[in-house]
Amino acid sequence: SRAQAMEVDASPEVRYEDIGGIDEQVREVREAVEDPLTNPEMFAEVGVDPPSGVLLYGPPGTGKTMLAKAVANETDATFIKMAGSELVRKFIGEGSRLVRDLFELAADREPAVIFIDEIDAVASKRTDSKTSGDAEVQRTMMQLLSEMDGFDDRGEIRIMAATNRFDMLDEAILRPGRFDRLIEVPKPAPEGRQKILEIHTRDMNVADDVDFADFAEQLDDYSGADIASLATEAGMFAIRDERTEVTRADFDAAFEKLESTDEKTVLPGH
Ligand code: ATP
Repeated sequence: SRAQAMEVDASPEVRYEDIGGIDEQVREVREAVEDPLTNPEMFAEVGVDPPSGVLLYGPPGTGKTMLAKAVANETDATFIKMAGSELVRKFIGEGSRLVRDLFELAADREPAVIFIDEIDAVASKRTDSKTSGDAEVQRTMMQLLSEMDGFDDRGEIRIMAATNRFDMLDEAILRPGRFDRLIEVPKPAPEGRQKILEIHTRDMNVADDVDFADFAEQLDDYSGADIASLATEAGMFAIRDERTEVTRADFDAAFEKLESTDEKTVLPGH
């Protein structure tokens, strides 16, 4: 149903300080999304249009959804999320209808941050537009573009989207007035990984023998989501052992466990 296709959160819990290792991306998102919402007079006075849409791109589990939720939270905006895959519908016109509903809902709830996850599902380069399914996806994308084109950039609705497949995107959605601010969200460097470890163990009883700076070095290619799973796993090892402190050995065991599985992360809802 339509209600299920969208996730609406009047006050998402995520804060900027919960996001580690991507400080520059946080700064860019604040400039592109927060400033136009909190200080629209500034843009009007200077005579510059804020970005119409902000596209976050990069590997899975790096904090793209967190960034969108945090900026909604810190601006007291309603967070409205739609997965691109939800817009790919069986029946003709259903996808376009959902896009219209999405923008109508945002207008009702403004200030609002619209977040379209997996935007590549509806905005990929044309493959074989002769197949009817593809034509329908194309229509949904057109509806999205027309909503964005008819949009007042200085209003109280900001539009964000995310993708893991930047290379697949149809250039039409990147034109000025559409997703015209691109922010890459990469996997974290060692220092960032340390920061994320610290964030995800904030409420954990961590033993003195644990050295996160050292441990972070070995988490080569780990995403923020992988690190979150690792911290939880380490805690589980302590619990299984009926200990109240999480030790270096627990983190090592969690690391071994994650390394031995193909997919490091099983993200909730994926
Ligand atoms: P996807 O592309 O799969 O939708 P995403 O980039 O949107 O992924 P998020 O949903 O933001 O990823 O992150 C998933 C979870 O991983 C978060 O709820 C958080 O626990 C953890 N996480 C990811 N990145 C970070 C980060 N930079 N700092 C702290 N935690 C993070």
